[in-house]
Amino acid sequence: MSKTIYNMKHLPNCDLCGNPSGWDSPIKIAGGSWGYLCDSEFNAMYPNGNSLATRFSTDEEPELSDSDRSAQIREAIFDGDLDLAEELIGDGDIFEWI
Ligand SMILES: [Zn+2]
Repeated sequence: MSKTIYNMKHLPNCDLCGNPSGWDSPIKIAGGSWGYLCDSEFNAMYPNGNSLATRFSTDEEPELSDSDRSAQIREAIFDGDLDLAEELIGDGDIFEWI
């Protein structure tokens, strides 16, 4: 599960293409060094996400769709991050999500 930083005033530019980035992430093609990636490159590099990466956003916390939330909850449980899972589940019942 990725951590998210909200409300950044200025997004750093993607290290690969120069567009506004969405992620502070390890970059596979750079031999494991870190850098900024835009959404399209991040998603191409990590189709299943990357638990080390930090999400940038200039917005308030986005509303998750139920399927996204369910996927994130399962990922959090899989990663053993039960605090995050509880945060995602909120007042709901875990069995509604897994
Ligand atoms: Zn890019």
